[in-house]
Amino acid sequence: MKKELILVLNCGSSSVKFSIIDPIEEITYIDGIIETINNITSLKIQDFINNKKLFKKFDKIDSYKQLIILIFDILHDKYKNYLNNIIGIGHRVVHGGKNLKKSMIINSSVLLEIQKSSVFAPLHNPFHLLAINIALKKILKLAKVNVAVFDTAFHHTIPKESFLYAIPYYFYSDHSIRRYGAHGINHFYVTKKCSFFLKKSINQLNVISCHLGSGSSITAVVNGKSVDTSMGLTPLEGLVMGTRCGDIDPSIIFYMIKELGISLDKAQKILTKYSGVLGISSISNDFRELEEKYNVNKKAKLSIDIFCHRVAKYICGYSSLMCGRLDAVIFTGGIGENSSFIRQKIIDKLSLIGCFIDSKNNLNNNKKTIFINSIKSIPILVISANENQIIAKETYNLIK
Ligand code: AMP
Repeated sequence: MKKELILVLNCGSSSVKFSIIDPIEEITYIDGIIETINNITSLKIQDFINNKKLFKKFDKIDSYKQLIILIFDILHDKYKNYLNNIIGIGHRVVHGGKNLKKSMIINSSVLLEIQKSSVFAPLHNPFHLLAINIALKKILKLAKVNVAVFDTAFHHTIPKESFLYAIPYYFYSDHSIRRYGAHGINHFYVTKKCSFFLKKSINQLNVISCHLGSGSSITAVVNGKSVDTSMGLTPLEGLVMGTRCGDIDPSIIFYMIKELGISLDKAQKILTKYSGVLGISSISNDFRELEEKYNVNKKAKLSIDIFCHRVAKYICGYSSLMCGRLDAVIFTGGIGENSSFIRQKIIDKLSLIGCFIDSKNNLNNNKKTIFINSIKSIPILVISANENQIIAKETYNLIK
């Protein structure tokens, strides 16, 4: 029987990740990434079925459109046998705004809503739109349907007391200003995985999911549903991130503009691109580099300490939303999965809510799901992020 496969496109501002997935068997056929670093564009593809890797370098490709076209060309040249079985393309979309509350087959009105929501995710939605428009043109040959899967959708169960800001109500009713959150696809994925590992129905599962990567967010999940999350109207609020400031007193912005004469555009750039651990350390937004320098550079140490402090504060705060029972804390994302050092620093601050680390298990960075809690602790799990599996499944479900 002909396999039915889904192509997943996950378009970030500086890289495009893509996968071909069998959504029924939950098997990833290929995983790929194209990104530009230091004027070189590199493409890596891992073919899991034939156990082969492809690695290509190109002179810097400036145009995002060309990056996407290159992916389609390479898939056509080298992976035609998989491509012939593609029945749909699933797109990760960071912001669905107030109206797109679940995954949608893409048509002109969905495109318009994604476009309208770009104002809340200017670093992401415009790139998604570009990719979708190219895919829509390719689709005639390739597949029947394009589907948008939203990072904000999982958070539409958040109650008003969590999603409303304490500003005049008309900003919400007339202008849709509220907490939308992000990383919802992965928060949902790891919650599902956790329910499998704890052998507990997802509808009865209370967890705190910590997605720690270049962008970071924490979600409180009660009975399998998101009830609060640290990112807000945009992915700028909440935790300290690689280059984003997270929670700050809004008066800082007034001060920058009124007292320091900084323009609004510049203030926005400072808070999104030059803040976070990069801003504190003046060294890097890459946590690996900061970790290496932790013991020899005071600012590297300070930036990681502030990051961990904020994460622990959110986890403990969210424990109060768990209706009396916290089943597990989950670590995921590039830092959450790979940095035993940062996990240890965070978990050491969580004894009050019953989290204690097993330092030996914590060091076991083998990329598989692991329990890193000691015997006296509630479960603490490390689960690899896999947004693409959820996107493939959602796409398939909408097509079928
Ligand atoms: P993500 O956005 O989830 O892909 O995560 C990317 C971030 O994870 C990078 O910016 C790195 O700072 C961080 N990261 C990846 N591997 C490690 C590691 N072994 N130790 C510390 N941080 C890491």
